Amino acid sequence: MLVYPPEGHDTDSKRIFVLGSAKSFCLINDSNIRLEGNGNFCKLIQLKLGENKIKINIDGNSLTRTIYAFPNPNKNPSPIAYARPYQAFSKGIKLDNILQSILISNKDIAIPLNSLPDYTLEKINAYNYRLNLSIVEQDLDWIHYSDLNPEIKIEKISDTVFDIRFQKPVSKYKILFNNHVFKISFTFKVKPFLICIDPGHGGSQFGAISPKGIFEKDLNLSLAIKLAAELNHQGVKTILTRNHDMEKSLSERVKISKKNNCNLFISLHHNALPDGRDPNKESGFSCHYFHEHSFELAKFISLKLKAASLQHFAGIYKQNLHVLRENPDTPSVLIELGYLIHPLESDLLCKKSFQTKTARILAKALLEFHRSQNFQ
Ligand SMILES: [Zn+2]
Repeated sequence: MLVYPPEGHDTDSKRIFVLGSAKSFCLINDSNIRLEGNGNFCKLIQLKLGENKIKINIDGNSLTRTIYAFPNPNKNPSPIAYARPYQAFSKGIKLDNILQSILISNKDIAIPLNSLPDYTLEKINAYNYRLNLSIVEQDLDWIHYSDLNPEIKIEKISDTVFDIRFQKPVSKYKILFNNHVFKISFTFKVKPFLICIDPGHGGSQFGAISPKGIFEKDLNLSLAIKLAAELNHQGVKTILTRNHDMEKSLSERVKISKKNNCNLFISLHHNALPDGRDPNKESGFSCHYFHEHSFELAKFISLKLKAASLQHFAGIYKQNLHVLRENPDTPSVLIELGYLIHPLESDLLCKKSFQTKTARILAKALLEFHRSQNFQ
């Protein structure tokens, strides 16, 4: 039998579990589900925005469940259980702070303590803060997240120093110490969606060159224009760091992204190799990032390009590149779409049809990434 979810269920969650039991088998969306010894099963299913049809077959009886998934901007984080600070209620005795637990919702971090600690909260960038609690004694036995897909994550640096990482950029925070709870509440930036597209090189900086003499700067620009058109067609605003063949410094490119408060930054390049390497042997696209919060975007784009199987996938790399490093408040990636100096790959890269397909994939990846970040 099927216990959950009910037909026509709607949710603001990204996934849902299908719960029930079977005598001999259960298929969900045609794949076999593991039954426990007692015949019970519980399977988590990822949801996409809007209507989701789940096909279920239990012991030969087919049924479907239609689930509607939607984002809910007014969703409050689930209430979290507050642990009491250690001995906090032994009246009349002055007690030291002992760090025992940290409770994290999608808006705040709560730490039960006896008194306001001598803390520091340092902004590393809009996606990363560092909290130093300066508490001597610690006995941290649990970090509790109130959400399955937390937007705030904590990483322990030392016993009392923690990195706080956010999925969205933080605009401000508030600290309260109330009822023996030290609480930091964060407010996130809500920006109109704008993507900065950066066609690499330009002017006297040709970049790489193909065996037929085509310059990288021209390919970067034509792909950037196609990508912008594709995004605009989907209703997304874009800004290009250059829209014709001109010289532009790396710092000017970053300045354009920052000044316009862009949500995402993508730099487009075509690769070459230094002397001593064999261009016959290296091909494919690669994706580069610098700040940790850009890794997800790099991964997302790489998976989409990889799935299209137009080319070999050469990997995701953390690279200390100016346009990535100097743009810490915006998820930023640099894509090398392939090796312009590779004898075969260069012909593919220069094809209009390849550029059109690639622009479409990139536009889709950027859009889906943005939605995945804003869908809770
Ligand atoms: Zn380049």
